[in-house]
Amino acid sequence: MSKTKIEWADQVWNPIVGCDGPFSPGCDHCYARRMAARLQGMGAYQQPFDQIVHQIHKTYYPRKIKRPTTFFVNSMGEMIPKEPAPLTLKYHHTMRGIWDIFSVMQECERHKFMILTKCPVRWADWDKITNPTWPENVWFGISAEDPYRLASRVHTLKELPARHKFISFEPLLGRISPKTLERMLRGHATAEGWRGIEWVIVGGETGPGARPMHPDWVREIRDTCVQNNVPFFFKGWGEWGPYTAPELSESRDLFNSWTHSFVTMFRVGKKRAGRELDGKEWNEYPWEGIE
Ligand code: SF4
Repeated sequence: MSKTKIEWADQVWNPIVGCDGPFSPGCDHCYARRMAARLQGMGAYQQPFDQIVHQIHKTYYPRKIKRPTTFFVNSMGEMIPKEPAPLTLKYHHTMRGIWDIFSVMQECERHKFMILTKCPVRWADWDKITNPTWPENVWFGISAEDPYRLASRVHTLKELPARHKFISFEPLLGRISPKTLERMLRGHATAEGWRGIEWVIVGGETGPGARPMHPDWVREIRDTCVQNNVPFFFKGWGEWGPYTAPELSESRDLFNSWTHSFVTMFRVGKKRAGRELDGKEWNEYPWEGIE
């Protein structure tokens, strides 16, 4: 387990690793796959990345941490594998592991556990079969990079009985309609009460091959969150920043080919591109209220 550079979490916790994706364009430059390859080179990651494996020795780690901590659960892949036919022992072990992970999260009330998926349908199937109790301290979110993936994943997110729900638009690769997003933020009635999306995270792409994110896409999501009183967290621009400083405009690595737009983005690296949106960092958390 390790401290993380991920801006919205204190630690990553990977009781399950690996992923049988890719699932969509947001997977094109998968960080977890790159990291697994690096660890494999050092002998610290044994199996192929496309095998989803339960790491039993890491399952109970949160029990040891006394200070209230926000964990990003499974930063290194998807937790639920595609069901194989015929069923295998490995699949059975992983599914059993998820049950144990839920017990640990329920027991460790002092922590928050953030689960993100690009495959909410697998979670819906798992929920139907196992009928688990979703602990109050578990935050369940979908990762969506564009309007098509948002539309196909958010419906299942809404149906799941998780107590708290959020959306991560990272890497954001297309414009999200404010009207569509607003409907999701406003929520819907459930047997347990009124439920909507409680948190929105946006981030640009990082690493080799990263694609730029149009500033107006981010502004529209931020404004929709502000108008609907939903906390907004801007992770940062990723590799490409919207700078106009003279020294940056001399860079040859620029991108300005969006249709009907005069914005130019410069490939300056994640650190230099930074986290400011219109002169401000957006670090809102649902459990801390809105600034
Ligand atoms: S779902 Fe996540 S871990 Fe799996 S390939 Fe896509 S980006 Fe990588």
